[in-house]
This record gives sequence, structure tokens and C-alpha cells, in this order.
Amino acid sequence: MNTKVSIVKCDDYSKARDAIKEALDLIGGLEKIISPGNRVLLKPNVLAIKRPEAAVTTHPVIVSAMCELVKEAGGIPIVGDGSGVTSSASTATAEALRVSGIEEAALTSGAELINFETSGFVEVDISGAKQFPRLHIAKAVLDADVIISLPKLKTHELTLYTGAVKNFFGVIPRKDRKDAHFLEDRDRFGDAVVDIYSFVKPHLAVMDGIVGMEGDGPSAGTPISSGVIMASYDCVALDVVASELIGFDPLQIPTNKAALARGFGTKKPEVVGTPLEKVKIQFKKPTGGALALMPPFFRRILRKQFTVKPFINTSICTLCKACVLNCSVDAIEEKNGSLKINEDKCIQCYCCRELCPSHAVEIKKSLLVRIVTRGKK
Ligand code: SF4
Ligand code: SF4
Repeated sequence: MNTKVSIVKCDDYSKARDAIKEALDLIGGLEKIISPGNRVLLKPNVLAIKRPEAAVTTHPVIVSAMCELVKEAGGIPIVGDGSGVTSSASTATAEALRVSGIEEAALTSGAELINFETSGFVEVDISGAKQFPRLHIAKAVLDADVIISLPKLKTHELTLYTGAVKNFFGVIPRKDRKDAHFLEDRDRFGDAVVDIYSFVKPHLAVMDGIVGMEGDGPSAGTPISSGVIMASYDCVALDVVASELIGFDPLQIPTNKAALARGFGTKKPEVVGTPLEKVKIQFKKPTGGALALMPPFFRRILRKQFTVKPFINTSICTLCKACVLNCSVDAIEEKNGSLKINEDKCIQCYCCRELCPSHAVEIKKSLLVRIVTRGKK
């Protein structure tokens, strides 16, 4: 695999398209990975319901530029993601796509927009997995011919840095994400992220490093002008260079360590374009994050307590069975003339809640979730 990483200076989103084109040309161009008619899945970071200036999500200008460039290369652009946990459960991704400007960017560029939460998951085997031998992966990932990561350059309280590899955490449902977050330590979490990455096998990463996030990322940090666009066919190589660019030791980043140990990427990628030394900037490190600092036994307890479970309000349900037909893990079962969600099978994707025409699928939040999300939208 070509592990070159390109860096192009860019301090303004109005110049992003040209910078992306230059970064892509420096490594060999989009045509190397896209054939005419290919379905090209663009995976931005749509972590939360935040406006672009909050620097939590990939800037919409990056998404529209990539949609246009994919079309020019003969591909069919598709933009998709599933956001992180919020108190509003099934509406979170739809709202995050809208508020981040990514929905508008995708649709005005003629791309298809896919909400991973409501488009279904497929259970797959992860060969060589270190943490999760079986995972649910968004259907859109399996349907794509080409997969491109569009990460935001940010710090992360658990993995210290988040970029092209960690971006694929968004392709699994929230229940699997929660299980990964509550693993005993950072290194195991890094291994879990690489389990996902090893299955997805992305073809390219283009990083939004024009404005990044320092401090307590990925969502509670501070925006910082970092002035770069980066590209690489190898997500791990890009992450190694990007974490060094923000003043971190790349070999201390759990996702980098886990990926390199499994033979992905390289410790010393070739940098093309602007030399790394000319764009290095020191990001403030995350202070740790409550979860990362907790002792393992306490995390195991919390994992059981942190739940947002769907349930069917049988007094409203009309038994139309739209939910049964669309539950990808067959978790909705009929008993004594009414429907019930089997909690052991449910992956908390909330598709049933989204699709129910009678709004009969409600959610039950544990006390811990109610405390953590109190006051949040
Ligand atoms: S989709 Fe809603 S109304 Fe229809 S069976 Fe499921 S819960 Fe009941
Ligand atoms: S029961 Fe609903 S939330 Fe659970 S897996 Fe099925 S569709 Fe998803």
C-alpha cells in the first residue's frame, strides 16, 4: 500500500477545495481508487449536534468539495455517518447531520445522504479481532465500492488523538460503541477501534485540519486554527503524521499502536507537500476524561448502568410489524398477541423507533444516562 501522506497549508475554508485537490494530486489522485460508476462512501465525523464553528464535526465545505471531486472522478458520492450518544436517541444523527451543515452540503452536491442509525446493520465476523470477533456494521459500508474517511483533527479524552482510523467508530451501533468505551483500558479500546478498521478497509483519508480541536476533545475541547489539509491512501499513516503534527508522540496513541502492531500503516510515512516541521503546532492535551481515569472494575459496573433501551408501548402499537421487518437482528418478538423487544438481542440502533408510524417505540433511560444528559439537547 502507498503510505505517502500529503500536507497542504490552508487557513480558510473558502480555499478548502483547491487545497484538497492539491493534497490528492500529491499522493496520486482520486482516479487511482475510483472507477466510473463506483459507489463512493464519504464518512465525515458527525459526532454530535454541533454547528461547524464548534469544530466537533467535519466542516461541510470539506464534504461538498469531496462530493464534487468524487463526481469528477466518475464516482457516485454517498455521505453517511451515525452520531454518538445523546439524550435524544434515535433523532440524534438526523439532527447532527442537519445542524453540522453536512446534510445540506451532501444534498446540494448531488450526493445521497445515509443516516447509519436508520439504514440498518449487518452482523459480520472480524477476522483476527483482538476485542470484537463479531460486530454489527452499517449496511452502507458493505454496499460501497470505495470508502473514504473524512476525519476532523482533534484530541480525544480516551485515545488522546482522533483521526482517520477512529472515525470508523461511527459505523457500529451505539450498543457496540458503549461496550467498547467501557473496556478496561485505552489500549483495549484502541484494539476495538482497529477491529472495526480492519473490516472496513478504507481506501483513502482526507483530513479537515483547517480548524482542529485541542484540549478535552472530541466534543468538549477548544477550536484551534491548525491550517492544514492532509490526505493519504493509508489511514494509519495519516494518523501517525497528524498526531505528530499536533505535538503528540504517534506511538503513544492507542489506535496507532494497535494498528501498527497488526501490520497496518507504517511508523515512518513519507510526507509530501509542505514539510511537517513547517506546520507543527502544539495542541493542548486532554485532561483525561472521567471514563479514562476510572478504575476498570468501576467501568464494568457503569457499563451495565449506562443504558438507553427501546421498548414498545403496547397500548399504542397497532401491530403493523414495520419494526419487526426492519430490525436487522430479529430482536422484536411476538408474545401473546403483542410485541416485545428482546433486550439480549437488541443492538440499540433505534431503527424501530425511527420507522414506527404510530410512535409506539419509546425509550427508557437508566438513571445514570438521565444524570449525564440532564440539560443537554
Ligand atoms: S412499527 Fe410501531 S405500530 Fe408497528 S408493530 Fe412496530 S411498534 Fe407496533
Ligand atoms: S429492537 Fe429496535 S433498537 Fe433494537 S435492534 Fe431492533 S430495530 Fe434496533
